[in-house]
Amino acid sequence: MKKTQYVVVGLGRFGSSISKELVKLGNEVLGIDKDEEKVDEMSHELTHAVVADATDEDVLKSLGVRNFDCAVVAIGDDIQSSILAAIVLKDLGIKKVVAKALTELHGKVLQKLGVDRVIYPERDMGIRVAHQLNSPNLLDYIEISKDYTIAELSVPKRLCGRTIKQLDPRAKYGCSVVAINKQSGVIIAPTATDIVNENDVMVIIGTNDQIEEFESEVI
Ligand code: ADP
Repeated sequence: MKKTQYVVVGLGRFGSSISKELVKLGNEVLGIDKDEEKVDEMSHELTHAVVADATDEDVLKSLGVRNFDCAVVAIGDDIQSSILAAIVLKDLGIKKVVAKALTELHGKVLQKLGVDRVIYPERDMGIRVAHQLNSPNLLDYIEISKDYTIAELSVPKRLCGRTIKQLDPRAKYGCSVVAINKQSGVIIAPTATDIVNENDVMVIIGTNDQIEEFESEVI
């Protein structure tokens, strides 16, 4: 199978973390930064790392960037460079361009330029951590729409040995357990007789209100 080729522009904290993880996942990554030190630090971790100005179309062309599957613009502080790099990468015709935004306005501009996905790492991580602090048993969650969420809840000691039927989230709260992650493996679509134990992780789906109610009353 052909490896997916990514170009990551800006090897700061966010760019270096995303590019190292993409390599770990088996992809090819070209990292670009105008700062030689950053490139040196990453040169052993990535498929290629190059010192270049990512706002210079000719340089990106000569690096063959237009043939890559996906580009990540990981420049944050320098909004002008982030916007220029995004325009150049879109103009080169890369199928998917993802860019990080520092503020809502920065994100709006990137979206108007046709960036396929705008991410707000600081804002989103802040929201995520606030949810986790607010509900200590909430390990993680994904919002699948404005109202619906999939949440991972850790099973507290006092619920140890209970069956799904006893907890009965569907009848009492309207949310469903779609999986139980146990040390011994994952049970997908558990049945009424499946048992939860301490430190198991229940994956549940429902509206935000249903999950919140189940969590505050049961978990
Ligand atoms: P983080 O918060 O993720 O560390 P920064 O905005 O501090 O993000 O870092 C962005 C990186 O992007 C820096 O290493 C910087 O040298 C690099 N960078 C900024 N402008 C350009 C540009 N025009 N071309 C290439 N790299 C750039």
